[in-house]
This record gives sequence, C-alpha cells and structure tokens, in this order.
Amino acid sequence: SSLFDSVELAPRDPILGLTEQYNADTRPNKVNLGVGVYYDDNGRLPLLESVRKAELALVEAASARGYLPIEGIAGYNKGAQTLLLGKGSPLLESGRALTAQALGGTGALRIGADFLKQLLPAAKVLISNPSWENHRALFERAGFVVDTYAYYDAQTHGLDFDGMLASLKAAEPRTIVVLHACCHNPTGVDPSAEQWQQIVQVVKERQLVPFLDIAYQGFGDGVEEDASVVRLFVQNDLTVLISSSFSKSFSLYGERVGALTLVCSSKEESARVLSQLKRVIRTNYSNPPTHGGAIVSSVLNSPELYQIWTDELGAMRQRIRAMRQQLVDVLKARGISQDFSFVLKQRGMFSYSGLTPAQVERLREEFGIYAIGTGRICVAALNSKNIDYVADSIAKVIA
Ligand code: PMP
Repeated sequence: SSLFDSVELAPRDPILGLTEQYNADTRPNKVNLGVGVYYDDNGRLPLLESVRKAELALVEAASARGYLPIEGIAGYNKGAQTLLLGKGSPLLESGRALTAQALGGTGALRIGADFLKQLLPAAKVLISNPSWENHRALFERAGFVVDTYAYYDAQTHGLDFDGMLASLKAAEPRTIVVLHACCHNPTGVDPSAEQWQQIVQVVKERQLVPFLDIAYQGFGDGVEEDASVVRLFVQNDLTVLISSSFSKSFSLYGERVGALTLVCSSKEESARVLSQLKRVIRTNYSNPPTHGGAIVSSVLNSPELYQIWTDELGAMRQRIRAMRQQLVDVLKARGISQDFSFVLKQRGMFSYSGLTPAQVERLREEFGIYAIGTGRICVAALNSKNIDYVADSIAKVIA
C-alpha cells in the first residue's frame, strides 16, 4: 500500500476549471469573463512600459542575486508604504509603520494571518459576504474560524450597509475583520466615504482588528484616492494590518509582488512586531525573491518611471470605465427593460452583473461567453472587439 492511499482528491479551483473549459472551446468568438486579470483592448495581458524600462535597466546593471533581507528590499518596502500612507504622511518618518515585501497580496495575507494566529489564537475572522474566495481558505488554513459579515444586497445590486454595521457591532472585541479597501472583489461594490467613517467608528468602538486588503489600488479613482480608506483608519489611531498587491497595478502577476504593512502605536512596538513577523517569514520561505521586487522598487523610486506607471495605470482604469459605460449603453440600446446602471457605480475590475446561474450557463453553452456562476464578470476582459457580442448575448439571455 502507498503512503498516500488515504489522500483524497481535492475539489478543483472553480475559476481555473472555467478557464480550462474556455481553452478547450473551439468557437472563434468565445470570451472569457471569468478571469481576474486586466487585458488590454487587444485582449492581451499588457507588459507595462514602466516595467519594461525598469527591467532593461536592471538587466543592464547585471547585478548578482544574493539573498534579500527577510523583510525584502528596503526601497520596495518604503515605496509600498508611501503608496498606502501618502507622501507627506508623518507616519513615514515616525517608525510606527513597518512593511515587509511579500509573495503577492496572497503572501501578505498569509504572513499577516500567521502572525495574528500567534497573537490572538482564539480570535475569529470575519470576511465579507461574498468575498474573494481565497480569503476564507487562507485564514482557515492559518487555523482561524472564519465567518462572514453582511455586505452585498442582491436586490439593490449595492451595499447592505445596515446589515454590515449590524454584523460588525455584533462581533466580539478582537475579532479580525478583513475589509476590501477599494474595488471589492467579487462585487465591485464599495462603501461610500461617509459609510467608511461609520465603519471605522464601529471598528474602534468594538475594538475589532482591521485587516485591510488592497489588491486594486489605482483601479478605482486613482492611486492616491484609492488609498483614502487606509489613511482614514490610520488617522483614527487604529492599529491596522494592510495587505497590498502590485499584481494587477503593475501587470506583474507571476512575479508575486505584494507587501504586508502594519501600523503600530509606537516605534518601539513596531520593532518588536517586525522581529516576530520576520520569524513567520523565515519559517515559511526565508526571504522573498529579487526580480519582481527590484522592478517595482525602481518604478516607485524613480520620478520618471513613476509618472509613466501612473499614466499607464490611469489608462487601464479609464478603459475599464469605458467598458462599463459601453456595456450599459449597448444593453439599453437593445431595449432591455432591466436597469443596468449599477454597473457604472461599481469599481475596479469586477462586476456582480446580476445574471442568474441559469443565465450564466446559457451564455456559456449558447454563446461561448464564460462568466462565474455567481454572475461575476471581469469588466477588464471586455474590449472594443467583443463588447457588442457580449452585450447582445446578455440581452438575449435576459430577454
Ligand atoms: N486580495 C484580493 C481581494 C484579490 O482579488 C487578490 C487577487 N485576485 C488578492 C488579494 C491576491 O493577489 P495576488 O495575486 O497578488 O496574490
């Protein structure tokens, strides 16, 4: 008998499964809206000019590849922290904030979760209902019991704000609350600035532990604007954990570029926290890889490359907006009675389209358009060539 006889086959990842089905589809006009990546108007994954320039300079410099410090490249961490807190923030100089380079946003969440498990072994974790599907799995893997707070209201295609506040108010002190700082995945629905003020007050009153996840900074209203929620928490003197990801904003998915930032109450506390976080990292993967981090660090620390990058990010943001607008316009032009204007209010790469599982199935079977069963579509996978076909097909399945 084999050692692995008792190992059961794990269920396959639903999104990756959808992509496999899409790849096997031979229809020439097929469209994959199930993905979680940004494609350009030609349906291709972009290589940003800022990234290309930074990479060429790195190759030119021909540096050796030693081990990085456990917490990663100093310039990268400073750049990541500055993006979150803002250039003039007094926190930057205070030593209260610490940042560690991480293996993508996922890696940042994981080292944050491992650190928290040590600190708050009995705490519960709350994630939004619904949330990025890996949030639950990841915190459960780290040993936490994971529950949800109310978030999406299917009736209004918007936020169930009262439900959300009620869930947070009912939570025990020191409950870890994972909040999407902008561009909520999967719904595209974000609280308003006023609603965030109230959320912060409840987090404070109930002594909850905010873990902000920001994987789409720059895809909402702009790099600075999208950090406003992070800055709001920090200005309210909350100790906060922040996982950030550059996978989408730099189109560097495979380089695993992310960061974990913690804002502590003093410089001395921050030094103790960092020392423990380094132990978590050391026993997971020792230290992060060099290449992607070096690229992002070059871009964030060069005024010229930074400008190119924010322009490129702005173009991605604008293109997604234009696709939202066009989708709504074409559906309207097709005489659809259903109001789809909520798609314009949603932020970031995703939209909870309101399509039912049966409609999603029809889109796939009859039209070769692949969306997730929940009705989540990736707006960033729409382009000037496929938008009419997609909108026409949606119009047919909801008619
Ligand atoms: N958080 C959210 C909300 C995400 O959508 C994603 C990526 N899909 C991540 C974290 C992880 O990002 P990364 O690919 O950098 O690990």
